[in-house]
Amino acid sequence: MSDFRRRNLLALLAGSSVFTLGAGSAWATPAKRRAMSRPNDAAPAQAPAAAPSAPSKVAPKSAPKATPAVKPKLIVLDPGHGGRDPGAHGRRGTWEKNVVLAVARELQRELLATRRYRVMLTRTGDTYVALRERVARAQAAKADLFLSIHADSHSDSDVRGASVYTLSESASDREAAALAARENRADATGLGLKFSDVPDNVAQTLVAMSQRGTVNESRRLAETVVATFARNGIRLLPRTHRQAGFAVLTSPEIPAALVEMGYLSNPQDEKLLTIRQHQLGLARAMRASIDAYFGAGSATRKA
Ligand SMILES: [Zn+2]
Repeated sequence: MSDFRRRNLLALLAGSSVFTLGAGSAWATPAKRRAMSRPNDAAPAQAPAAAPSAPSKVAPKSAPKATPAVKPKLIVLDPGHGGRDPGAHGRRGTWEKNVVLAVARELQRELLATRRYRVMLTRTGDTYVALRERVARAQAAKADLFLSIHADSHSDSDVRGASVYTLSESASDREAAALAARENRADATGLGLKFSDVPDNVAQTLVAMSQRGTVNESRRLAETVVATFARNGIRLLPRTHRQAGFAVLTSPEIPAALVEMGYLSNPQDEKLLTIRQHQLGLARAMRASIDAYFGAGSATRKA
């Protein structure tokens, strides 16, 4: 999409005219957007994410040329919803937007502590960020992996467990299709925009993704998350890896998956999702999944 069209779309999604955006606006200018997308801007208080320099014993000063350090992989974490879009709601009053941000922050800390990754969050506070802006930020930053983090809701309060989703034009089942429709609606909430007004490029993206091998890489990522969750005792939904047309998973170059950590409509899941120890357990299992996906550490190791 052209930059002009993109700005107009973003302005529409932000509920504001492109001509009245002030310098302080999150959508002010492409330059500002680029600056916002820079890795580590989201985590100024974190330790530097650059690769640790090699210890001197393995890089003697006499060596004529140092081997260039491998650039740490950039992981984009996408806590779902935010601001005026609170996401799913639990009976005890838990909002999805809050628990997913808490887990994303734990996961950010876990990943940075390994010193193997750079980490960027698509939102760092309780703010609304349009789905396509999340995709755009990950693409601008040239992310190596995109993980969207959510918690679901179901009309049957007995339904519980985590599930993992990848992009597909046709959904694997009706529930996955309904979930994608709910998650995609975030872009249209209260803006007078129908979802069909927003360019829907799932089919196009899938062609580009299969040309680049991103479809298979995304599936491998999802299956790694499922296997790691199972090994770490995280309760799973049957047929845990499902597929549907999620707008937030449409970066052709970036392997991407969406994790639903449980159901806020289920009292046990809701309680667990608010307990810090469980949030940490989920974050550690996701970190172990990312390690296994990139082949670091042992794929069979517990988180
Ligand atoms: Zn959600």
